[in-house]
Amino acid sequence: MPFGVAQAHHLNSCPRMFVKMKPDGSSGSCAALRRSVRCSRTESTPPVTEARLQHSEGGVAGMAKLRGLEQKVELLGIDCEDLSRPGFYSNLFCPKCRGGQKVERSLSFHIVQSVEFAMWRCFRMECGWAGQAFADGCKSCDGDYAAIKVSSTVQMTEDSLRLEPLSNKIIGYFAERKILEETLHRNGVKQLSGKQCVISFPYKRKGQLVGCKYRTLDKKFWQEKGTEKALYGLDDISEADEIVIVEGEIDKLSLEEAGFLNCASVPSGAPVKVSNKELPSPDKDTAFQYLWSCKDYLDKASRIILATDGDAPGQALAEELARRLGKQRCWKVNWPKKDDSGSFNDANEVLKHLGPTALREVIEHAEAMSPTYSEPSNA
Ligand SMILES: [Zn+2]
Repeated sequence: MPFGVAQAHHLNSCPRMFVKMKPDGSSGSCAALRRSVRCSRTESTPPVTEARLQHSEGGVAGMAKLRGLEQKVELLGIDCEDLSRPGFYSNLFCPKCRGGQKVERSLSFHIVQSVEFAMWRCFRMECGWAGQAFADGCKSCDGDYAAIKVSSTVQMTEDSLRLEPLSNKIIGYFAERKILEETLHRNGVKQLSGKQCVISFPYKRKGQLVGCKYRTLDKKFWQEKGTEKALYGLDDISEADEIVIVEGEIDKLSLEEAGFLNCASVPSGAPVKVSNKELPSPDKDTAFQYLWSCKDYLDKASRIILATDGDAPGQALAEELARRLGKQRCWKVNWPKKDDSGSFNDANEVLKHLGPTALREVIEHAEAMSPTYSEPSNA
């Protein structure tokens, strides 16, 4: 059993009793039992916090510390249920995954004997939520911001996200958009397990799954919790001197049908309009974190073709990307005319209606964005 989890014992008594008395009358410790014991509190028992502190750092100060620490973790949704005796482990309900389908008490929770800090970890593979909270005034915390540290450290996998091979329905959906099964396969496109048709686009960095975006056939989008802010298709641009940036996962797949592997997509939507403010510093540039987190990859490119959507937000996105990437190395695609009323809007529309060769030509005829760019002359 993972994490040394004990079977649940439901004893109708208070944890403090186990300090003196073992359920089998032996003198050996029974931490496993203690961990999973539930306390049914009655009016006649002394305050539980006081009782819990009997064998740790006692006194009024210690109690205040323990209460303060419990309040901190309660803000994160952890219900200590009066079980958190300093120095011992308790199995609580994880506020992040609620113990999954089996509703397990999967959160192993521990307050150190000195009541300086609490730590926890959910032992469910799919969750792995872990963190620490520090008592006020303890030596190890340098300020409020450091008082609570929370992280999910478990590696995402296709299994943990419940991804499965594509159904014929979804393969058909892509075929209508002229995207072939082998392209879907190379990009690891799968579907979410369940009755509904939900397409999953895995986000990878150096082959490792770092996130996942989902899309229903009627264009509803959401992403896996903990998804890294990064470009989609990042590994495909790692060695490229010339890259193409598009505005959606399906456009990235469309570029591949037209022969461009060196393409990545922005992960989220476009801005309404181009900002008239100064560029924020990278750490404050929240809407474009995905760009800064991939800076190492983008820095290698000497030429970047922006093939964002033809609508106003798509054009604003191209402009905002160019401001950050440097206009002098950016080229912009002009989508061809569809009919008298307007032009095609994105790479997939061109692929679907005009075919891969036409899409290739459109990309190859991108225009330089820098107003000062000109062919070198002898003048
Ligand atoms: Zn959990």
